[in-house]
Amino acid sequence: MQFFSTRGGEQIDLVGAIMRGIAADGGLFVPDRLPFFGPEDFKGESLSEIAAELLQPFFAESALAQELAAICDDALNFPLPLVELAGAPRPLSVLELFHGPTAAFKDVGARFLAALMERALALNSSDDGRPLTILCATSGDTGGAVAAAFDGRRGIRVAVLYPKGQISARQEHQLTCWGDNIRAFEIDGTFDDCQAIVKRAFLDEKLAASHRLTAANSINLGRLLPQAAYHAAGALWQWRRTSVPAGFIVPTGNLGNGLACVWAQRMGLPIREVLLAVNANRSIPDLLESGQWRPRESLRTLASAMDVGAPSNMERLLQLLPDFVDLKATIESCSVNDAEIRAQISKDFDLYGRIWCPHTATGFFAYDRLDDSRKRSPWVVCATAHPAKFDSIVEPIIGQPVPVPDSLNELLARPTAKTSLAAELDELRDELTRWT
Ligand SMILES: *Cc1c(COP(=O)(O)O)cnc(C)c1O
Repeated sequence: MQFFSTRGGEQIDLVGAIMRGIAADGGLFVPDRLPFFGPEDFKGESLSEIAAELLQPFFAESALAQELAAICDDALNFPLPLVELAGAPRPLSVLELFHGPTAAFKDVGARFLAALMERALALNSSDDGRPLTILCATSGDTGGAVAAAFDGRRGIRVAVLYPKGQISARQEHQLTCWGDNIRAFEIDGTFDDCQAIVKRAFLDEKLAASHRLTAANSINLGRLLPQAAYHAAGALWQWRRTSVPAGFIVPTGNLGNGLACVWAQRMGLPIREVLLAVNANRSIPDLLESGQWRPRESLRTLASAMDVGAPSNMERLLQLLPDFVDLKATIESCSVNDAEIRAQISKDFDLYGRIWCPHTATGFFAYDRLDDSRKRSPWVVCATAHPAKFDSIVEPIIGQPVPVPDSLNELLARPTAKTSLAAELDELRDELTRWT
């Protein structure tokens, strides 16, 4: 399969699209077509087996075609269960995406990308042996998933930049507890300063070439494809249990999680309908109401990993569904404000004894708001993070401590190391040069 830029130009194969991340014209890579499956085409049971079947057409003819099954086994080796919500009056299940090493769904994409990049580098015999350096600015969550996923990978180093004093203690721990190929830089500045340093580093041709700088951000196809796979797996598990397709409710911000679900649906998976839950950043529901695409500044909310005013993946969604009538027929969206997030966490804890993270709570709010007639059909809500990652928000709402999962406790027990830098590219440049 070939991939091309949403802005028109440039055809490239899968490995090229993933190693490059973003097209030269600034667009995002998309497949030239989506393959189509029936539910019976899938023989596998586990996430990793279903992912290998779903992604086979994308990998066909690429240099990594023979490695796909191994990449899926390597990356998708943690539980990702579809759990019926006990006590719910209507058929309602939770797709728990938060059992990976850093307890949020970003582990799925980051681990797949890491497993793939490591193998792509090993294939390249002209390689001079210098490591690739992934530069990553984070406002909290993405950096942890990327650091965890690339920890110990051969031929790749990761430099994570985060704003001093502006992330939670647990988030900082998840950035700073890794091995020699991962370094955490605490920047005396804001997240925007961190992003600006990363951008300037990429534009500095000498620096970029000498350290083989690359990105691992959420618009990389290598993160989107495995996300389509967990929606596919959730849809198939539901279908095999009940022979009825479920509607999917997907908390989203940058539209990574949301677009991946639409892709799975368009590939023929039994997903009856797609409802995107967003926080107070309303550009997606506003588009569906008005037909006008108006990206804007992001607002800060309790569901901070979804604080996106101009979702990057909108470019891919509009490329797939350029006709407004089709777009409206394919997705609907519900915006949820902070007071509603708090109330939902409290209500579902009382009703079901389940604790949601603020992002997941937007999904359950969107579900509750549906007409009762629509709730007769089964629904799946994607749970995007473990609430223990957002303990400072969740614990005051439910009035008790959130139990911490073993995998997260294990990370939190590790020693940490970080380097503090002023918000200057030159300081980072010195550190990269000294890093051997
Ligand atoms: C990143 C993130 C989201 C939103 O993901 P998108 O890719 O923007 O759809 C939702 N919840 C959590 C916990 C996240 O980390």
